[in-house]
Amino acid sequence: MKPEKIYIETYGCQMNKLDSEYVNAILTEDGFTVVTDPDDADVILLNTCGVRDNAEQRIHGRVGELSSLRRFKPDLIFGIIGCMAQRLGNNLISDVVSIVAGPDTYRLLPSMIEKALYEKTSFTDLHRDETYSGIEPVRVCSHSAWVAVMRGCNNYCSYCIVPYTRGSERSIPCDDILAEIENLKQNGYREVTLLGQNVNSYNDGEINFTRLLERIAQTGIEWIRFLTSHPKDLSVDILDVMSKNDNICNHLHLPLQSGSDRILKAMNRKYTISRYLSLIESARKFIPGINISTDIIFGFPDETEEDYRNTLSVMQSVRFDFAFLYRYSEREGTKAALFPNKVPEQVRLDRLREAIELQNSIIRQKNRERIGATYVVLIKGLSKDKQGWYGFTETNIPVVVKSKDGASRIGSFVNVHIEDSTGGSLVGTAI
Ligand code: SF4
Repeated sequence: MKPEKIYIETYGCQMNKLDSEYVNAILTEDGFTVVTDPDDADVILLNTCGVRDNAEQRIHGRVGELSSLRRFKPDLIFGIIGCMAQRLGNNLISDVVSIVAGPDTYRLLPSMIEKALYEKTSFTDLHRDETYSGIEPVRVCSHSAWVAVMRGCNNYCSYCIVPYTRGSERSIPCDDILAEIENLKQNGYREVTLLGQNVNSYNDGEINFTRLLERIAQTGIEWIRFLTSHPKDLSVDILDVMSKNDNICNHLHLPLQSGSDRILKAMNRKYTISRYLSLIESARKFIPGINISTDIIFGFPDETEEDYRNTLSVMQSVRFDFAFLYRYSEREGTKAALFPNKVPEQVRLDRLREAIELQNSIIRQKNRERIGATYVVLIKGLSKDKQGWYGFTETNIPVVVKSKDGASRIGSFVNVHIEDSTGGSLVGTAI
């Protein structure tokens, strides 16, 4: 019997979440039905991340777990798509897994699924021109949307697998992006997040990222965010456009990765700490009150105690509003995987733990300083205790909103008076 019902489970970054929305659109267009419960599915697709080893281990575990459903449905088909699929290709084909598809091959999924009961297939070609343009993603959220402005990356940071799994950089034409955002606005969307591995290097041949941002601001969509910036490409012009347009959110995600110039060089990041700090200073000068978040890796090969202390010292001086902190995870095929002087795993973990403690104390202190203020919050859903709501400020701070009226506020902007904070979140009452 032809498989009809597809369940998609997504791991990893926002780009992967958007890709799952594209996959949903491609399959729906071809007559398949996307379901939300794996028990109902004829096909299970796991859209995977390959950035860290533990992300891949999780997928192997999840395939094992879900394969028990075959006891009731022996023809259940499994597919692995996304970055891990691209990285490991044919090696993932097994008794359980029949479909392997890299991020540039999703248009082939309908035919791969149709054949999967009698043929196992793996497609991992990278296509320089694939941007999924012309496909309208099936969005999971009715008020916030991810909008890809580019795909791929040319930077080859020495620790990173992404240029190998997502291919080289390509920018989506400005007019297509503007049309997509106009359409979202007409359909009641209030917030867009522009996505790209390195959005600051956007260039469609005529328009750079600064001009793109300016044109998107002119659409009048209420909140605009963008991810991810790169310190080598973020310009003062971009900060200027942010400062002049109220609908561009005052939040900047600017990966630091290390506080040591020596390690940044080995990482092939192409900026120095002094450039990074001067960008932070400019951002705070152009946009007073801007929130700055970051990514940092601990235990990169040859990271000495001194390098590590330098990173902590940058964290102390910048006082990031949020930080994604990781221990270095070796990825086969990257340059850094061949570097000598690996930092022992326990040292990586100890450094990471100490850094998390530092960052948590900074966030707690910053959040205490926010008590008494009033923020506009875009409500995203019910709070954990179901007694209120949760959402984010324009500067991307998570807020739990106490509310007694019981009316659905999801997708609304609400003024919230902050009364308390719990670790990473603010707590307040809708006014
Ligand atoms: S900029 Fe560097 S870290 Fe980011 S995706 Fe590209 S190679 Fe990876």
